[in-house]
Amino acid sequence: MHWVAWDLVTRSKKNGGLGIGKLKLVNEALLAKWAWRYRSEITSMWRKVVTACHGKSRKWFDFPCNATSTGVWKNIMRSESKTGIDVNWSWSRAIFSQEEMAELAEASVVLAGLATSDTKDSWKWTLEDSGIFSTSSFKKAASNQAPVDPIYRIWTGGWIPAKCKIFMWRVLIDRIPTRNALARRNVTVDSENCAFCGVLTESVDHLFSGCETVCAVWVWLSDWAKINPLFAFSFKDVMLMHKGASEDKRARLIIRGLIMVTCWCVWKARNNKIFSNGRGSVEEIIGEVKSLDFFVAKVQVQV
Ligand SMILES: [Zn+2]
Repeated sequence: MHWVAWDLVTRSKKNGGLGIGKLKLVNEALLAKWAWRYRSEITSMWRKVVTACHGKSRKWFDFPCNATSTGVWKNIMRSESKTGIDVNWSWSRAIFSQEEMAELAEASVVLAGLATSDTKDSWKWTLEDSGIFSTSSFKKAASNQAPVDPIYRIWTGGWIPAKCKIFMWRVLIDRIPTRNALARRNVTVDSENCAFCGVLTESVDHLFSGCETVCAVWVWLSDWAKINPLFAFSFKDVMLMHKGASEDKRARLIIRGLIMVTCWCVWKARNNKIFSNGRGSVEEIIGEVKSLDFFVAKVQVQV
């Protein structure tokens, strides 16, 4: 069963994904790099060959491309036209004749943000401060990802195990196999009820905020870490609980990590109860959290 759409997996971590590269985008970026090299490597032999085979473009904007020719250059040009990324340039000298003035006035109609300077004419890649093309800046612009809720910024905290972070990412997008999620996907389950309390539907919100077992774990956690009481009515609240837990920003980050690891232990205890006859009790979850020695040491030192 596929739980997460590939488009979401390939988003950057900042924008709610896992930051896995998209091969199609890498390919387009590498093709676009050839277009950049054509513009910047004026004296190179390969450029002369392309110009000889495809003719000279009479427009500054366009690349030469002979429609009847076959080969890789045509594909590169096809990709260049698809990206829709604008070009801009810096002038090498100030204009002085009336004709140039007229041409510039004409050009100004189609160009925005034009700047003049005394340096040599050159192409500039505006997506990088250095002005040099980079495949990473191309991929970022071409992937066109809308920013998402800051709640998805779960990747900080090097001491939190990657398995916990990835688990939390899946919970945030409601892609863990809770009984309710399985039933929604037409998987036969014995019961849709919560593995801990056995009374209410086992959804992400219930499992991490509504269930009495987990509520008791949050009470224990706030006592144990000596922080303000933790309250949550939904999983989103769980991700925001750390904000009210302490005045100190660093302590809040540690508490957020603590909450993430606890959620992972809750899920582990739930699986133990269903698949390995575990007790699924509050004590079992607390024991699991405490058993993570690296984690306990870190919290004792810093909170
Ligand atoms: Zn429950």
